[in-house]
Amino acid sequence: MKPLGQLIVICGSMFAGKSEELIRLVRRAMYARKKIQVFKHALDDRFHHSAVATHNGVQIDAVPVRNTQEILNLLEPDTEVVAIEEAQFFDEKLVRLCVELADAGKTVIAAGLDQDFRRQPFGIMPQLMAVADEVVKLRAICVVCGRPASHTQRLVDGRPAAWDEPTILVGAEDHYEARCRNCHQVRRVPAHLRRRLWRPQKRAKTPPQSAKLGEKSA
Ligand SMILES: [Zn+2]
Repeated sequence: MKPLGQLIVICGSMFAGKSEELIRLVRRAMYARKKIQVFKHALDDRFHHSAVATHNGVQIDAVPVRNTQEILNLLEPDTEVVAIEEAQFFDEKLVRLCVELADAGKTVIAAGLDQDFRRQPFGIMPQLMAVADEVVKLRAICVVCGRPASHTQRLVDGRPAAWDEPTILVGAEDHYEARCRNCHQVRRVPAHLRRRLWRPQKRAKTPPQSAKLGEKSA
């Protein structure tokens, strides 16, 4: 019988542990003696050029690629597990490729940022999450208040980044933090997005006299 493939998408903000989770799943496949290929988008050249590095220093070997076609060129026919890091940077063809590989009986593990620094869905991640068999959405801890964080805060020269700055700044002097929705900040949000659809109702200061508990109306 043909092996049943699957697509697992690991997502969340920066510092949520996406790379650790990807490494954990790849290690399990290694113990099971599966043939594995790990790719990562070449845009991310932090720390090591041919490894998936986590912020705590753990790493596995990965092949840097610039697009989906390069993965296709490098894929070996007997590979059983394909892992992809920084999936948010890839082109739309990656979504089709992941589905085709899973349909062919392979396990595909794709990890990426689900939101950009504006809290908007990042690149192809919504599509990947929709067609996945399993979505592992991880949360970080807010560096400001210590509560669970789902967002990535970009700081440029110590100030929150502005909405109209480019999503991907390679080699820029910027800095990222995990923040919760209460502590996350973006400057120069467009007016149509600042306008709220919904506002909390203001409570009446004192309840009307007749509404007091235990009081009967005459
Ligand atoms: Zn917070």
